[in-house]
Amino acid sequence: MGGTPTDLKLIDENGRRLDGRLPDEMRPLKIEAGVLSRADGSAYVEWGLNKVMAAVYGPRECHPRHLQNPERALVQCNYNMASFSVDDRKRPGPDRRSHEISKIISEALTHVVFTEYFPRTSIDVYIEVLQANAGTRCAGLTAASVALADAGVPMRDLVASCAAGKVADTVVVDLAKEEDNFGQADIPLGYVPRTGEIVLLQMDGDLTSDQFNKGISMAMEGCKKVYEVQRDALKRRYEVRSAGTELEVLGAAPAKEGM
Ligand code: ADP
Repeated sequence: MGGTPTDLKLIDENGRRLDGRLPDEMRPLKIEAGVLSRADGSAYVEWGLNKVMAAVYGPRECHPRHLQNPERALVQCNYNMASFSVDDRKRPGPDRRSHEISKIISEALTHVVFTEYFPRTSIDVYIEVLQANAGTRCAGLTAASVALADAGVPMRDLVASCAAGKVADTVVVDLAKEEDNFGQADIPLGYVPRTGEIVLLQMDGDLTSDQFNKGISMAMEGCKKVYEVQRDALKRRYEVRSAGTELEVLGAAPAKEGM
């Protein structure tokens, strides 16, 4: 958020945004489930210029032991932005922002996981942002819930996430980098479509209550679209898995000589 450079028109005379989108249009979203063979579950998300990988391990015994909850599992998330993910090299390692994002994503996911099924365990979720262009917490949460489902962790539903905000006095969905930098407000949302619950909500900037309500409903509509893409990714993964036994049998065949 901040002052717009005088020559930067975030919304043009036709009501289009810098990248040509209308206020209620989202950036293109692609999700692939089960992309990593070492993790129990994984997902890769490309959302506009964002590229985010999520990996899940567990439920597994929680260490250190003093963190164990005798009644439920702990969902522990680690959000990290690669040093090459932004224009200027980002200093590697955790910082206040990554701690905050890890915490809110952990809390959002805890709401949907049946943590009571796995006392004393930890479900570890790693989110690596490979390329960032605003909205990485939404992309990270979206990827993480697909990775949890891919790991077979029992959940009430997926969490779908999308932001809305205000640029040039217009409420828009899914802000890109310049809109995030020079816009007037940003509201990331985490939504559970099956129950209608909001499990992540933040707000940065100024909005009237009407604009806020409009932003929330636009972000919810965005989440519903994200949810469809998440489900499609899991269905594709399921189909590949179902066919996988055959592929493994083929893979077990001895390699032909001279290949
Ligand atoms: P989100 O990525 O969830 O929108 P922010 O609003 O904090 O989170 O960040 C917006 C964007 O600003 C990020 O997606 C990224 O492109 C950029 N950004 C964040 N932190 C840094 C940083 N340390 N260095 C450079 N760019 C950053």
